Amino acid sequence: MKKLAALTSILLAAPLFAQPAAPPPPPVTVAPWIHALRDDALANDHYAWDITEGLTTEVGQRMAGTAAEARARAWSVARLKAMGFSNVRVETFDMPVWVRGPESAEIVAPFPQKMVVAALGNSASTGPAGVTGQIVAFDSVDALRAAPDAAVRGKIVFVDHRMMANQDGSGYGQFGAPRRQGPTLASQKGAIAIVVRSIGTDHHRNPHTGVMTFADGAKPIPAGALTIPDAEQLVRILGRGQPVTMRLRLESTTIAAAQSGNVIAEVPGRDPSLAPVMVSGHLDSWDQSTGAIDDASGVAIAAAAAKRIMDAGRPLRTIRIVWFGAEEVGLFGGNDYLARHGKEPHYAIAESDFGADRIWKVDSKLGEARRDEARMIGAALAPLGIVTGSFDEAEGSDIGPLLASGVPGVGLSQDGTRYFDIHHTPDDTLDKVDPAQLRQNVAAWTAMLGVLSGGIEPNARARR
Ligand SMILES: [Zn+2]
Repeated sequence: MKKLAALTSILLAAPLFAQPAAPPPPPVTVAPWIHALRDDALANDHYAWDITEGLTTEVGQRMAGTAAEARARAWSVARLKAMGFSNVRVETFDMPVWVRGPESAEIVAPFPQKMVVAALGNSASTGPAGVTGQIVAFDSVDALRAAPDAAVRGKIVFVDHRMMANQDGSGYGQFGAPRRQGPTLASQKGAIAIVVRSIGTDHHRNPHTGVMTFADGAKPIPAGALTIPDAEQLVRILGRGQPVTMRLRLESTTIAAAQSGNVIAEVPGRDPSLAPVMVSGHLDSWDQSTGAIDDASGVAIAAAAAKRIMDAGRPLRTIRIVWFGAEEVGLFGGNDYLARHGKEPHYAIAESDFGADRIWKVDSKLGEARRDEARMIGAALAPLGIVTGSFDEAEGSDIGPLLASGVPGVGLSQDGTRYFDIHHTPDDTLDKVDPAQLRQNVAAWTAMLGVLSGGIEPNARARR
Protein backbone atom coordinates (compact mmCIF):
# COMPACT_ATOMS: atom_id res chain seq x y z
CA MET A 1 0.00 0.00 0.00
CA LYS A 2 2.76 2.36 0.91
CA LYS A 3 4.25 1.77 -2.52
CA LEU A 4 0.95 2.42 -4.26
CA ALA A 5 0.48 5.67 -2.34
CA ALA A 6 3.90 6.81 -3.42
CA LEU A 7 3.16 5.92 -7.04
CA THR A 8 -0.14 7.82 -6.89
CA SER A 9 1.54 10.92 -5.59
CA ILE A 10 4.12 10.76 -8.39
CA LEU A 11 1.35 10.39 -10.97
CA LEU A 12 -0.56 13.31 -9.46
CA ALA A 13 2.56 15.46 -9.38
CA ALA A 14 3.10 14.97 -13.10
CA PRO A 15 1.53 17.61 -15.34
CA LEU A 16 -1.77 16.54 -16.83
CA PHE A 17 -0.62 17.37 -20.32
CA ALA A 18 3.04 16.51 -20.71
CA GLN A 19 5.01 18.97 -22.79
CA PRO A 20 6.11 17.44 -26.09
CA ALA A 21 9.89 17.03 -26.42
CA ALA A 22 11.57 19.82 -28.40
CA PRO A 23 11.49 18.87 -32.08
CA PRO A 24 14.85 17.85 -33.53
CA PRO A 25 16.47 20.66 -35.53
CA PRO A 26 15.86 20.41 -39.28
CA PRO A 27 18.58 18.51 -41.11
CA VAL A 28 21.40 20.63 -42.51
CA THR A 29 22.25 20.34 -46.17
CA VAL A 30 25.82 19.69 -47.20
CA ALA A 31 26.77 21.09 -50.60
CA PRO A 32 27.36 18.37 -53.22
CA TRP A 33 30.86 19.69 -53.97
CA ILE A 34 31.86 18.96 -50.35
CA HIS A 35 30.66 15.36 -50.70
CA ALA A 36 32.60 15.10 -53.95
CA LEU A 37 35.86 16.50 -52.50
CA ARG A 38 35.57 14.19 -49.48
CA ASP A 39 35.00 11.08 -51.57
CA ASP A 40 37.80 11.98 -53.95
CA ALA A 41 40.20 12.34 -51.00
CA LEU A 42 39.06 9.01 -49.55
CA ALA A 43 39.71 7.21 -52.82
CA ASN A 44 42.70 9.05 -54.22
CA ASP A 45 44.65 11.17 -51.78
CA HIS A 46 48.38 10.70 -52.09
CA TYR A 47 49.54 14.06 -50.70
CA ALA A 48 49.44 12.95 -47.06
CA TRP A 49 51.36 9.75 -47.75
CA ASP A 50 53.90 11.63 -49.89
CA ILE A 51 54.58 14.10 -47.06
CA THR A 52 54.71 11.42 -44.34
CA GLU A 53 56.96 9.17 -46.41
CA GLY A 54 59.14 12.07 -47.56
CA LEU A 55 59.65 13.66 -44.15
CA THR A 56 60.37 10.39 -42.36
CA THR A 57 62.70 9.15 -45.12
CA GLU A 58 64.56 12.31 -46.11
CA VAL A 59 64.81 13.92 -42.66
CA GLY A 60 64.23 11.06 -40.22
CA GLN A 61 64.13 11.84 -36.51
CA ARG A 62 63.88 15.57 -35.74
CA MET A 63 64.24 16.41 -32.08
CA ALA A 64 63.27 19.98 -31.22
CA GLY A 65 66.07 22.52 -31.29
CA THR A 66 68.55 20.22 -33.02
CA ALA A 67 70.15 20.40 -36.46
CA ALA A 68 67.74 17.63 -37.51
CA GLU A 69 64.72 19.80 -36.73
CA ALA A 70 66.34 22.67 -38.67
CA ARG A 71 66.69 20.28 -41.65
CA ALA A 72 63.02 19.39 -41.22
CA ARG A 73 62.07 23.08 -41.44
CA ALA A 74 64.11 23.52 -44.62
CA TRP A 75 62.53 20.36 -46.07
CA SER A 76 59.07 21.61 -45.14
CA VAL A 77 59.54 25.03 -46.71
CA ALA A 78 60.70 23.45 -49.96
CA ARG A 79 57.84 20.92 -49.97
CA LEU A 80 55.09 23.43 -49.15
CA LYS A 81 56.36 25.80 -51.85
CA ALA A 82 56.53 22.95 -54.36
CA MET A 83 52.91 22.07 -53.53
CA GLY A 84 51.90 25.61 -54.51
CA PHE A 85 51.09 27.15 -51.14
CA SER A 86 51.56 30.89 -50.59
CA ASN A 87 53.30 32.91 -47.86
CA VAL A 88 55.50 29.97 -46.90
CA ARG A 89 57.68 31.13 -44.00
CA VAL A 90 59.39 30.12 -40.77
CA GLU A 91 58.87 31.94 -37.49
CA THR A 92 61.85 31.08 -35.30
CA PHE A 93 62.20 31.12 -31.52
CA ASP A 94 64.83 30.10 -29.00
CA MET A 95 64.46 27.31 -26.46
CA PRO A 96 66.59 25.11 -24.19
CA VAL A 97 67.53 21.71 -25.62
CA TRP A 98 68.08 18.45 -23.79
CA VAL A 99 70.14 15.90 -25.74
CA ARG A 100 70.07 12.16 -24.99
CA GLY A 101 73.38 10.35 -24.49
CA PRO A 102 74.27 6.69 -23.88
CA GLU A 103 71.84 4.89 -21.57
CA SER A 104 71.58 1.49 -19.93
CA ALA A 105 70.06 -0.26 -16.93
CA GLU A 106 70.97 -3.49 -15.24
CA ILE A 107 69.99 -5.42 -12.16
CA VAL A 108 73.16 -5.93 -10.13
CA ALA A 109 71.61 -8.13 -7.41
CA PRO A 110 70.06 -10.54 -6.59
CA PHE A 111 69.68 -11.76 -10.21
CA PRO A 112 72.15 -9.84 -12.43
CA GLN A 113 70.63 -9.03 -15.83
CA LYS A 114 70.24 -6.24 -18.39
CA MET A 115 67.12 -4.13 -18.82
CA VAL A 116 66.07 -1.72 -21.56
CA VAL A 117 65.58 1.89 -20.52
CA ALA A 118 65.21 5.33 -22.08
CA ALA A 119 65.84 8.60 -20.30
CA LEU A 120 62.86 10.92 -19.98
CA GLY A 121 63.28 14.39 -21.49
CA ASN A 122 64.97 16.78 -19.00
CA SER A 123 66.43 13.90 -16.98
CA ALA A 124 69.61 14.77 -15.09
CA SER A 125 72.70 12.99 -16.38
CA THR A 126 74.21 10.18 -14.36
CA GLY A 127 77.55 10.73 -16.04
CA PRO A 128 79.42 7.82 -17.60
CA ALA A 129 79.82 5.99 -14.27
CA GLY A 130 76.05 5.79 -13.71
CA VAL A 131 74.38 5.47 -10.33
CA THR A 132 73.85 2.31 -8.35
CA GLY A 133 71.23 1.96 -5.66
CA GLN A 134 68.57 -0.16 -4.04
CA ILE A 135 65.15 -0.13 -5.68
CA VAL A 136 62.16 1.11 -3.69
CA ALA A 137 58.95 0.29 -5.56
CA PHE A 138 55.51 1.92 -5.61
CA ASP A 139 52.44 0.87 -7.56
CA SER A 140 51.31 4.46 -8.15
CA VAL A 141 52.39 8.06 -7.83
CA ASP A 142 49.97 8.42 -4.93
CA ALA A 143 51.77 5.64 -3.06
CA LEU A 144 55.09 7.40 -3.69
CA ARG A 145 53.60 10.69 -2.46
CA ALA A 146 52.41 9.03 0.73
CA ALA A 147 55.75 7.36 1.49
CA PRO A 148 57.95 8.73 4.28
CA ASP A 149 61.13 10.41 2.99
CA ALA A 150 63.23 7.93 4.96
CA ALA A 151 61.90 5.06 2.82
CA VAL A 152 63.06 6.79 -0.37
CA ARG A 153 66.22 8.69 0.53
CA GLY A 154 69.35 7.42 -1.23
CA LYS A 155 67.42 4.87 -3.30
CA ILE A 156 66.25 4.43 -6.89
CA VAL A 157 62.46 4.81 -7.04
CA PHE A 158 60.46 2.53 -9.32
CA VAL A 159 56.84 3.47 -10.07
CA ASP A 160 54.59 0.84 -11.62
CA HIS A 161 51.07 1.29 -13.06
CA ARG A 162 48.88 -0.44 -15.59
CA MET A 163 47.78 1.71 -18.51
CA MET A 164 45.13 0.07 -20.67
CA ALA A 165 44.51 0.81 -24.33
CA ASN A 166 41.27 2.53 -25.26
CA GLN A 167 39.75 4.28 -28.22
CA ASP A 168 39.96 7.85 -26.98
CA GLY A 169 43.45 7.66 -25.45
CA SER A 170 42.22 8.95 -22.10
CA GLY A 171 44.50 6.50 -20.27
CA TYR A 172 47.44 8.74 -21.15
CA GLY A 173 46.18 11.50 -18.91
CA GLN A 174 45.34 9.10 -16.11
CA PHE A 175 48.45 6.93 -16.25
CA GLY A 176 50.94 9.58 -17.31
CA ALA A 177 51.38 10.75 -13.71
CA PRO A 178 54.40 8.51 -12.93
CA ARG A 179 56.30 10.23 -15.74
CA ARG A 180 55.01 13.74 -15.17
CA GLN A 181 54.99 13.95 -11.36
CA GLY A 182 57.07 10.96 -10.26
CA PRO A 183 60.51 12.52 -10.85
CA THR A 184 59.69 15.67 -8.85
CA LEU A 185 58.27 13.64 -5.94
CA ALA A 186 61.20 11.22 -5.94
CA SER A 187 63.69 14.10 -5.96
CA GLN A 188 61.91 15.91 -3.12
CA LYS A 189 62.12 12.75 -1.01
CA GLY A 190 65.86 12.38 -1.61
CA ALA A 191 65.91 9.59 -4.22
CA ILE A 192 69.09 9.31 -6.30
CA ALA A 193 67.14 8.38 -9.46
CA ILE A 194 63.76 7.16 -10.69
CA VAL A 195 62.60 4.64 -13.26
CA VAL A 196 58.94 4.30 -14.26
CA ARG A 197 57.06 1.66 -16.17
CA SER A 198 56.78 3.12 -19.69
CA ILE A 199 53.55 5.05 -20.32
CA GLY A 200 52.37 2.71 -23.03
CA THR A 201 50.10 -0.20 -23.88
CA ASP A 202 52.34 -2.61 -25.81
CA HIS A 203 54.35 -5.61 -24.67
CA HIS A 204 57.49 -5.00 -26.65
CA ARG A 205 60.93 -4.12 -25.42
CA ASN A 206 60.59 -0.53 -26.61
CA PRO A 207 60.89 2.13 -23.91
CA HIS A 208 58.48 5.08 -24.18
CA THR A 209 60.18 8.40 -23.58
CA GLY A 210 58.42 11.72 -23.01
CA VAL A 211 59.01 15.05 -21.42
CA MET A 212 58.83 15.89 -17.74
CA THR A 213 59.93 18.87 -15.72
CA PHE A 214 61.18 19.17 -12.18
CA ALA A 215 58.65 21.38 -10.43
CA ASP A 216 58.67 23.39 -7.20
CA GLY A 217 62.44 23.82 -7.20
CA ALA A 218 63.09 20.06 -7.07
CA LYS A 219 66.72 19.23 -7.92
CA PRO A 220 66.92 17.31 -11.21
CA ILE A 221 67.74 13.62 -10.78
CA PRO A 222 68.23 10.92 -13.44
CA ALA A 223 64.81 9.73 -14.64
CA GLY A 224 64.08 6.93 -17.09
CA ALA A 225 61.36 4.66 -18.43
CA LEU A 226 61.78 0.89 -18.44
CA THR A 227 60.08 -1.07 -21.21
CA ILE A 228 56.85 -2.71 -20.10
CA PRO A 229 58.29 -6.28 -20.21
CA ASP A 230 61.27 -5.08 -18.15
CA ALA A 231 59.00 -3.33 -15.62
CA GLU A 232 57.04 -6.57 -15.24
CA GLN A 233 60.30 -8.50 -14.86
CA LEU A 234 61.42 -6.06 -12.14
CA VAL A 235 58.12 -6.61 -10.29
CA ARG A 236 58.75 -10.38 -10.38
CA ILE A 237 62.30 -9.93 -9.11
CA LEU A 238 61.09 -7.65 -6.29
CA GLY A 239 58.45 -10.27 -5.48
CA ARG A 240 61.19 -12.71 -4.49
CA GLY A 241 61.61 -10.62 -1.35
CA GLN A 242 65.32 -9.79 -1.45
CA PRO A 243 66.76 -6.27 -1.78
CA VAL A 244 67.14 -5.40 -5.47
CA THR A 245 70.04 -3.25 -6.66
CA MET A 246 70.04 -1.48 -10.03
CA ARG A 247 72.81 0.27 -11.92
CA LEU A 248 71.45 3.03 -14.09
CA ARG A 249 73.34 5.03 -16.67
CA LEU A 250 71.43 7.88 -18.29
CA GLU A 251 73.82 10.35 -19.86
CA SER A 252 72.57 13.60 -21.35
CA THR A 253 73.61 17.16 -22.03
CA THR A 254 71.65 20.39 -22.19
CA ILE A 255 72.11 23.45 -24.38
CA ALA A 256 70.74 26.64 -22.86
CA ALA A 257 69.44 28.25 -26.06
CA ALA A 258 68.97 26.68 -29.47
CA GLN A 259 66.67 27.62 -32.31
CA SER A 260 63.38 26.03 -33.27
CA GLY A 261 60.53 27.43 -35.34
CA ASN A 262 57.04 27.11 -36.75
CA VAL A 263 56.60 26.55 -40.48
CA ILE A 264 53.59 28.40 -41.88
CA ALA A 265 51.95 28.33 -45.31
CA GLU A 266 48.65 29.58 -46.68
CA VAL A 267 45.93 29.12 -49.25
CA PRO A 268 44.88 32.75 -49.72
CA GLY A 269 41.16 33.30 -49.45
CA ARG A 270 39.07 35.40 -51.83
CA ASP A 271 38.33 37.85 -49.03
CA PRO A 272 41.56 38.66 -47.16
CA SER A 273 39.61 40.70 -44.60
CA LEU A 274 38.10 37.50 -43.18
CA ALA A 275 39.74 35.58 -40.32
CA PRO A 276 41.68 32.50 -41.47
CA VAL A 277 40.96 28.85 -40.73
CA MET A 278 44.07 27.30 -39.19
CA VAL A 279 44.97 23.60 -39.54
CA SER A 280 48.05 22.19 -37.88
CA GLY A 281 50.26 19.43 -36.55
CA HIS A 282 53.79 19.38 -35.12
CA LEU A 283 56.96 18.97 -37.10
CA ASP A 284 59.33 17.89 -34.33
CA SER A 285 59.58 14.31 -33.11
CA TRP A 286 61.33 12.44 -30.35
CA ASP A 287 64.89 11.42 -31.07
CA GLN A 288 64.61 7.62 -31.20
CA SER A 289 62.48 7.22 -34.31
CA THR A 290 61.24 8.98 -37.42
CA GLY A 291 58.04 10.11 -35.73
CA ALA A 292 55.73 8.75 -38.42
CA ILE A 293 52.58 8.71 -36.28
CA ASP A 294 53.82 11.49 -33.99
CA ASP A 295 53.49 13.63 -35.88
CA ALA A 296 54.61 13.39 -39.52
CA SER A 297 51.17 12.03 -40.41
CA GLY A 298 49.51 14.91 -38.56
CA VAL A 299 51.29 17.68 -40.48
CA ALA A 300 50.65 15.66 -43.62
CA ILE A 301 46.89 15.33 -43.01
CA ALA A 302 46.47 19.07 -42.35
CA ALA A 303 48.45 20.10 -45.44
CA ALA A 304 46.91 17.45 -47.72
CA ALA A 305 43.40 18.65 -46.89
CA ALA A 306 44.37 22.28 -47.56
CA LYS A 307 46.00 21.22 -50.84
CA ARG A 308 42.84 19.42 -51.96
CA ILE A 309 40.77 22.55 -51.33
CA MET A 310 43.37 24.61 -53.22
CA ASP A 311 43.28 22.17 -56.16
CA ALA A 312 39.52 22.59 -56.36
CA GLY A 313 39.46 26.36 -56.36
CA ARG A 314 39.77 29.46 -54.21
CA PRO A 315 38.16 29.30 -50.77
CA LEU A 316 36.39 32.35 -49.37
CA ARG A 317 38.55 32.38 -46.24
CA THR A 318 42.32 31.94 -46.06
CA ILE A 319 43.46 28.50 -44.92
CA ARG A 320 46.60 28.70 -42.81
CA ILE A 321 48.76 25.62 -42.30
CA VAL A 322 50.98 25.62 -39.21
CA TRP A 323 53.59 22.93 -38.64
CA PHE A 324 54.61 23.65 -35.07
CA GLY A 325 58.16 23.21 -33.84
CA ALA A 326 59.18 21.89 -30.42
CA GLU A 327 55.86 20.39 -29.31
CA GLU A 328 57.21 17.28 -27.64
CA VAL A 329 59.52 19.07 -25.25
CA GLY A 330 57.01 21.58 -23.92
CA LEU A 331 54.72 23.21 -26.53
CA PHE A 332 57.29 25.90 -27.35
CA GLY A 333 55.93 26.31 -30.90
CA GLY A 334 52.35 26.61 -29.74
CA ASN A 335 53.34 29.21 -27.17
CA ASP A 336 55.33 31.20 -29.75
CA TYR A 337 52.35 31.19 -32.13
CA LEU A 338 50.12 32.30 -29.26
CA ALA A 339 52.47 35.18 -28.42
CA ARG A 340 52.67 36.36 -32.05
CA HIS A 341 49.17 35.65 -33.33
CA GLY A 342 46.99 34.99 -30.30
CA LYS A 343 45.33 38.40 -30.53
CA GLU A 344 44.50 38.02 -34.24
CA PRO A 345 41.07 36.62 -35.09
CA HIS A 346 40.91 32.98 -36.24
CA TYR A 347 37.70 31.66 -37.77
CA ALA A 348 38.48 28.16 -36.46
CA ILE A 349 41.54 26.12 -35.51
CA ALA A 350 42.31 22.38 -35.52
CA GLU A 351 45.31 20.14 -34.94
CA SER A 352 46.08 16.53 -35.93
CA ASP A 353 48.38 14.94 -33.33
CA PHE A 354 47.08 11.47 -32.53
CA GLY A 355 48.46 9.26 -35.28
CA ALA A 356 46.84 8.29 -38.55
CA ASP A 357 44.25 5.69 -37.63
CA ARG A 358 40.68 6.37 -38.70
CA ILE A 359 38.73 9.30 -37.30
CA TRP A 360 35.64 8.16 -35.38
CA LYS A 361 34.32 11.35 -33.77
CA VAL A 362 34.12 15.07 -34.44
CA ASP A 363 33.79 17.57 -31.61
CA SER A 364 33.62 21.29 -32.08
CA LYS A 365 33.45 24.51 -30.17
CA LEU A 366 32.29 27.11 -32.64
CA GLY A 367 29.86 28.89 -30.35
CA GLU A 368 26.08 28.86 -30.07
CA ALA A 369 25.57 31.17 -33.06
CA ARG A 370 27.44 28.77 -35.35
CA ARG A 371 25.60 25.59 -34.28
CA ASP A 372 24.31 24.91 -37.79
CA GLU A 373 27.83 25.11 -39.14
CA ALA A 374 28.97 22.60 -36.51
CA ARG A 375 26.08 20.32 -37.45
CA MET A 376 27.02 20.67 -41.10
CA ILE A 377 30.56 19.47 -40.35
CA GLY A 378 29.00 16.47 -38.63
CA ALA A 379 26.75 15.79 -41.62
CA ALA A 380 29.66 16.12 -44.03
CA LEU A 381 31.72 13.62 -42.02
CA ALA A 382 28.97 11.11 -41.22
CA PRO A 383 29.42 9.12 -44.47
CA LEU A 384 32.98 8.34 -43.28
CA GLY A 385 31.56 6.57 -40.22
CA ILE A 386 32.33 9.56 -37.99
CA VAL A 387 29.95 10.38 -35.15
CA THR A 388 29.20 13.89 -33.98
CA GLY A 389 30.25 14.40 -30.38
CA SER A 390 30.17 17.59 -28.36
CA PHE A 391 29.36 21.09 -29.62
CA ASP A 392 31.22 22.57 -26.71
CA GLU A 393 34.62 20.91 -26.90
CA ALA A 394 37.73 20.87 -29.03
CA GLU A 395 41.28 19.93 -28.15
CA GLY A 396 44.79 19.95 -29.46
CA SER A 397 48.25 20.11 -27.92
CA ASP A 398 49.84 23.17 -29.53
CA ILE A 399 46.50 24.89 -30.04
CA GLY A 400 45.35 24.17 -26.48
CA PRO A 401 46.15 27.66 -25.14
CA LEU A 402 44.37 29.29 -28.11
CA LEU A 403 41.30 27.11 -27.57
CA ALA A 404 41.38 27.90 -23.87
CA SER A 405 41.40 31.61 -24.71
CA GLY A 406 38.13 31.14 -26.60
CA VAL A 407 39.27 30.73 -30.23
CA PRO A 408 36.71 28.53 -32.06
CA GLY A 409 37.99 25.04 -32.82
CA VAL A 410 37.21 21.61 -34.19
CA GLY A 411 38.57 18.33 -32.83
CA LEU A 412 38.72 15.27 -35.07
CA SER A 413 39.33 12.24 -32.84
CA GLN A 414 41.33 9.37 -34.26
CA ASP A 415 41.03 5.81 -32.98
CA GLY A 416 43.70 5.68 -30.28
CA THR A 417 43.50 1.94 -29.55
CA ARG A 418 47.02 1.17 -30.80
CA TYR A 419 48.49 4.68 -30.57
CA PHE A 420 50.14 4.12 -27.18
CA ASP A 421 51.70 0.87 -28.33
CA ILE A 422 54.01 2.97 -30.49
CA HIS A 423 53.97 6.52 -29.09
CA HIS A 424 57.41 7.94 -28.15
CA THR A 425 59.22 4.68 -28.90
CA PRO A 426 61.92 3.67 -31.41
CA ASP A 427 59.08 1.82 -33.15
CA ASP A 428 57.27 4.94 -34.43
CA THR A 429 58.11 4.32 -38.07
CA LEU A 430 56.41 4.64 -41.45
CA ASP A 431 55.18 1.03 -41.59
CA LYS A 432 52.78 1.86 -38.71
CA VAL A 433 50.85 4.26 -40.96
CA ASP A 434 47.98 2.55 -42.79
CA PRO A 435 47.53 4.34 -46.14
CA ALA A 436 43.77 3.64 -46.28
CA GLN A 437 43.13 5.05 -42.80
CA LEU A 438 45.39 8.00 -43.61
CA ARG A 439 43.16 8.77 -46.61
CA GLN A 440 40.07 8.62 -44.38
CA ASN A 441 41.73 11.27 -42.20
CA VAL A 442 42.41 13.49 -45.22
CA ALA A 443 38.83 13.00 -46.44
CA ALA A 444 37.47 14.14 -43.07
CA TRP A 445 39.79 17.16 -42.86
CA THR A 446 38.98 18.11 -46.46
CA ALA A 447 35.24 18.01 -45.79
CA MET A 448 35.71 20.02 -42.58
CA LEU A 449 37.74 22.62 -44.49
CA GLY A 450 35.11 22.64 -47.21
CA VAL A 451 32.55 23.77 -44.65
CA LEU A 452 34.78 26.14 -42.68
CA SER A 453 36.55 27.86 -45.57
CA GLY A 454 33.26 29.24 -46.77
CA GLY A 455 32.76 27.95 -50.28
CA ILE A 456 35.07 27.50 -53.22
CA GLU A 457 35.13 29.46 -56.43
CA PRO A 458 36.11 26.63 -58.77
CA ASN A 459 39.24 27.27 -60.78
CA ALA A 460 39.69 26.43 -64.42
CA ARG A 461 41.50 23.23 -63.62
CA ALA A 462 38.78 21.97 -61.29
CA ARG A 463 36.04 22.74 -63.84
CA ARG A 464 37.64 20.65 -66.57
ZN1 LIG B 1 52.59 14.55 -30.89
